[in-house]
Amino acid sequence: MRTPKVWVIGLALAALAGCGTAVAAAPTAPPSASPSPSASPSRSALPSGAPSPSDRPGLTAVRSSSAPSADRPRHRGPANSLMRTGKAGVALTFDDGPDPAQTPKLLDLLKKRHVKATFCVVGENVAAHPDLVRRIAAEGHTLCNHTWRHSLTLGKQKPSVIRADLQRTNDAIRAAAPGAEIKYMRAPGGNFTPAFVAEAADLGMTSIYWQVDPRDWDHPAGESGAAHRAKLIRSVKKHVGKGAIVLSHDYAQPDTIAAYETLIPWLQRRYKLIALP
Ligand SMILES: [Zn+2]
Repeated sequence: MRTPKVWVIGLALAALAGCGTAVAAAPTAPPSASPSPSASPSRSALPSGAPSPSDRPGLTAVRSSSAPSADRPRHRGPANSLMRTGKAGVALTFDDGPDPAQTPKLLDLLKKRHVKATFCVVGENVAAHPDLVRRIAAEGHTLCNHTWRHSLTLGKQKPSVIRADLQRTNDAIRAAAPGAEIKYMRAPGGNFTPAFVAEAADLGMTSIYWQVDPRDWDHPAGESGAAHRAKLIRSVKKHVGKGAIVLSHDYAQPDTIAAYETLIPWLQRRYKLIALP
């Protein structure tokens, strides 16, 4: 369990990095350590890879309230969200898409390897690329609501505002893929709050966090693509285990897709890869 001091330092580092999804699989964290809530930049409606500076204040404010607590049950994320599949199978989850450049490549790879995964899609991107949402559903993957425009502070809003956002996103998903089931919700940045989780549950969605985060959004200055891919691969191999939910991004992260070309066969030799049911 992280101490508050470490948590504050983590926040500062994340803010400096200007982005952030979680630190669950940070190289210094032992596998049993509780992951930290985190935040990815508002990737929808942004040029590829451009972090949104406007996310930073919200990121800090929400993170401080959703810091790991000694009261949190083991294997549960913020506000009691799921970190694990509840089975032996490992679930790959891909966030922030669909991305017209990267998502088709990922879907091709998953099809070639006969892997089903879970896609946490952003409503604005769903509306822009409904064909890709249709393909995700048609190919047997699981859909997850990742809010309309990836607001890192949505969980702090009134329940009615949270609900309207989740409903709008579900409506867009169902308009794109009629009849699609949407059983999961992931808060942007993992910034779950009890109200967020409750509204999602009321709409029939289970809130999912993650156990493994290779920080594929994090591109330190000067890091080569090869080094980035190697870091991602190394991190997943080190931290994955039976039942893990693994977080990555298909939006604007070409190196992530390339890394999974290597990772998926490695994972398949050791684990059953499952879409969340
Ligand atoms: Zn995200």
